[in-house]
Amino acid sequence: MPGVRTKHPVSHAWERAAHLRDFRDGRLQRDEICDADFLLRAAATHHGVDSPRPCPICASPMRVTYWIFGDVLGRRAGSARPPAEVAEIGAELAARGEEFTVHAVEVCPTCHWNHLLETATVY
Ligand SMILES: [Zn+2]
Repeated sequence: MPGVRTKHPVSHAWERAAHLRDFRDGRLQRDEICDADFLLRAAATHHGVDSPRPCPICASPMRVTYWIFGDVLGRRAGSARPPAEVAEIGAELAARGEEFTVHAVEVCPTCHWNHLLETATVY
C-alpha cells in the first residue's frame, strides 16, 4: 500500500482464486461469496480506495479497504482507515517501536463480493 512501510506480507490470492473456482463450478452459491455486510460496504465507500481491477463476479468497480488490528492501536484496533491514515498511525507507532497488522480487503458495492487480499505488518 502506498506510503506505508510493511513487512511479512501474506497474499491470499490462492484462496481467492479457489473461491472463484468453486463458485464457477457450482460448489459455492453466489450469496455465500457475495456476503459483504453493511459495515464492510460502508467502510469500503467511506475509507476505501478504488481497486485497479473490476469485480470478478459482476465486473463493477470495486474498492479496497484497509483494516488495522493490534493491541497497540487501542480504540483504533479493528477499524478501517484510508491509506494516508494507516501511514500516519504507522509512523506514530514506529517511533515507539510498535507494530500492527493491516488487512487489505476488496469489496464490490454492487454485488457485495468481498475477499481478503493481503495481510502485512506495519512497522
Ligand atoms: Zn460485484
